[in-house]
Amino acid sequence: MLDAPQKKIPMLDLAAQNGPLRADIEGAIARVLDGNRFILGPEVEALEREIAEYLGVPHAIGVSSGTDALLISLMALGVDASNMWKNVVSHEADEIITTPFTFFATAGSIVRSGAKPVFVDIDPVTFNLDATHVADAVTPRTRALMPVHLFGQPCDMRAIREAAGDLPIVEDAAQALGARCCEGIVGGLGTLAAFSFFPSKNLGGFGDGGLVTTSNAELAEQVRVLRAHGSKPKYYHSLVGGNFRLDALQAAILRAKLPYLERWTEGRRRNAALYDEFFANSGLPPERLIAPKRVHEGHVYNQYVIRTDRRDALKAHLAQAGIATAIYYPLPLHLQPCFEALACPLGSFPESERAAREVLALPIFGELETDGVERIASEIVSFLR
Ligand SMILES: *Cc1c(COP(=O)(O)O)cnc(C)c1O
Repeated sequence: MLDAPQKKIPMLDLAAQNGPLRADIEGAIARVLDGNRFILGPEVEALEREIAEYLGVPHAIGVSSGTDALLISLMALGVDASNMWKNVVSHEADEIITTPFTFFATAGSIVRSGAKPVFVDIDPVTFNLDATHVADAVTPRTRALMPVHLFGQPCDMRAIREAAGDLPIVEDAAQALGARCCEGIVGGLGTLAAFSFFPSKNLGGFGDGGLVTTSNAELAEQVRVLRAHGSKPKYYHSLVGGNFRLDALQAAILRAKLPYLERWTEGRRRNAALYDEFFANSGLPPERLIAPKRVHEGHVYNQYVIRTDRRDALKAHLAQAGIATAIYYPLPLHLQPCFEALACPLGSFPESERAAREVLALPIFGELETDGVERIASEIVSFLR
């Protein structure tokens, strides 16, 4: 007798997340329709207050995307934009230290701000910047550090802060809303922090959106001014900013979803613990499979990423079994064609390059049920055995 065809498991099931909130979300949309304010305005202000309160950080500024949150943070710090793009190869450019193993926006924003990305390799256990190498990368032209809390796990901020000395730190917290470490909550660990509300992030909108947090009132004001073309008062421009404003509709929808964030994060952690236990009991040696290490209890698991040297074959096998997976990220940023001018050839950052060959992200969303996790984990273990 044939087995009944098994249900497909997606990477993320937003219908399952949004479905139970339908009435709240429709109410939020109706409020915007009735209020007739579509850009910034009371919904954005309320979201800013609610997230500032949730994080315990004094200032939160809603912006158009996580990418723009990074860019505007660097603009607020006064990165020299006079030679944009040429700066990538210029020896006079401002430098920002970051990781090559991240989403493109991290380094893309650095270049768009007029600075040059200076890469430091990752720690293979956490996939985050290897803080022990950061101090070596600091030069007289370093203007800031941009660590990324990759996959939702906080960086080693104590070591990064030590290496930074007086240099400002911009946290790329796009994947880490609500994440904590012993130093405190992500978004309050550096000078400024950038969050994203892209739909696949832990708090996702119905389109693009982002947020900057800071404890520094002057920088907060600078970000607010830069967000609206550098105008203050309206139609008078002492700075050149951009259109980095958040829509009221996104803010209203995010406000409807924010109260559920902790519950969804608990679901991600529960699923991560199930995978951890399954893989630990599988008897597979670490050459075959490495499960991600939860260094900080406050990891929020935007992604659950395993490593295996049979990554591509495993991905194909799981696809056959109806299980979606994803590769974050297949090509480290120093090897991207657009950054050829940085002259960091293959071999420059071996841990990032190895991670790019071995990583595989598994479904981890909070609505995924225990039997789904077990089905995925047992497919993986029997394939790799
Ligand atoms: C998603 C993401 C961004 C960019 O956010 P957008 O809202 O998509 O612009 C930046 N950095 C990292 C690490 C991300 O994952």
